[in-house]
Amino acid sequence: MIDESRAFELDRQHVFHSWSAQAQISPMVITRAEGSTVWDDAGKDYLDFTSQLVFTNIGHQHPTVVAAIQEQAAALCTIAPQFANAARSEAARLITELAGDGLDKVFFTNGGADAVEHAIRMARLHTGRTKVLSTYRSYHGGTHLAVNVTGDPRRWASDNGSAGTVHFFGPFLYRSSFHATTEEEECARALEHLEQVVALEGPGNIAAIILESIPGTAGIMPPPPGYLAGVRELCDRHGIVYIADEVMAGFGRSGAWFSFQHYDVQPDLVTFAKGVNSGYVPLGGVVISGPIAATFDDRAYPGGLTYSGHPLACAAAVATIGAMREEGMVENAARLGEEVFGPRLAKIADAHPSVGEVRGLGAFWALELVKDPATREPLAPYGGTSDAMNATVAAAKAEGLLPFVNFNRIHVVPPLNIADDEAHRGLDILDRALTVADSHVAG
Ligand code: PLP
Repeated sequence: MIDESRAFELDRQHVFHSWSAQAQISPMVITRAEGSTVWDDAGKDYLDFTSQLVFTNIGHQHPTVVAAIQEQAAALCTIAPQFANAARSEAARLITELAGDGLDKVFFTNGGADAVEHAIRMARLHTGRTKVLSTYRSYHGGTHLAVNVTGDPRRWASDNGSAGTVHFFGPFLYRSSFHATTEEEECARALEHLEQVVALEGPGNIAAIILESIPGTAGIMPPPPGYLAGVRELCDRHGIVYIADEVMAGFGRSGAWFSFQHYDVQPDLVTFAKGVNSGYVPLGGVVISGPIAATFDDRAYPGGLTYSGHPLACAAAVATIGAMREEGMVENAARLGEEVFGPRLAKIADAHPSVGEVRGLGAFWALELVKDPATREPLAPYGGTSDAMNATVAAAKAEGLLPFVNFNRIHVVPPLNIADDEAHRGLDILDRALTVADSHVAG
């Protein structure tokens, strides 16, 4: 048995953590988790409004999925990717069924960043072009190319290599780059801007445009109606591959299996990870459209991973998708957005001057916290944090709520099957914690 009592001490001695100044962190030790709740080593329970890193879409320890992993482990823990395997074949069948017509093949990876890497490689080989366009307000993963394609500040320290990555401004009315005052204006001007970027970069050099269908960590900004269709049309006009990054927005998060499905568009490649099996075993992948798949019918695809389509991860995906369908979790996420999160967060925004804007859908919501509602000055600077944000989050945690935080934003991203009373309890805590943010508002 592993000694639970030494978890913190050994972590501090030997574990090197992601995205952190190692001497400045004090990781909470989690000893148990169930549904939407986690427990620390002092036995305190926390309602998980983060789904960890927005991946436990079915909550923790779903019994059907745990049993499926156990059964697969007993039958066949692992097998190399060159063999066929029932768990992998069925996972691929289910994922392509959910993605819709014309997206019929899956290349499996270990997570989201490598899915993005491979989607871009496929687009480059398919088009014979190099450049990749992505938005500033985006996150596409931590590996070298994926972090260069990323727009958010996690790119800055590694922004020194991948040739041909170009950033542009996506639509975001609250902080419009285009001086727009309506969603229609924002949509039209964002498309016009993208059209100009394409023209100035040389359409014949551009392999792909990669977009989070609903940008996640960068702020949960559902695109205005018509924007993704406009991108699709631009890509078609110039032979550019449209990659939908659904790593965070996919698998029910927004109340649809994939978020692009809200907008009536068909991407050429779809990257996924996280919610595909709620992160119970690492898994990601690329769903591939017919013409791109055909490029590699008689020409070897130059890429692979030792664990591509790992049976434990794929068995977890099959069971997760099954449980989500059986329990109507995607429909529940949509309902939660309409009946619980949408109305309650709107009330919270009305009551708190620190809440500049609330936006989202399904179980995918952001609160934009500001020092001044008139100027919209953020409560923490872009790429940074502040005492006001830290104190607000500490107030929520003290009452047993784990909120997802990024710069000046709090995201409400719980499991899709969170019970209504749990959702209301978490929102009550958030409501009270926001009085701390209010005390930092100017005037
Ligand atoms: N793409 C998006 C939209 C993401 O949100 C993330 C992770 O948060 C990634 C890619 C990278 O996924 P991973 O951390 O599994 O490599």
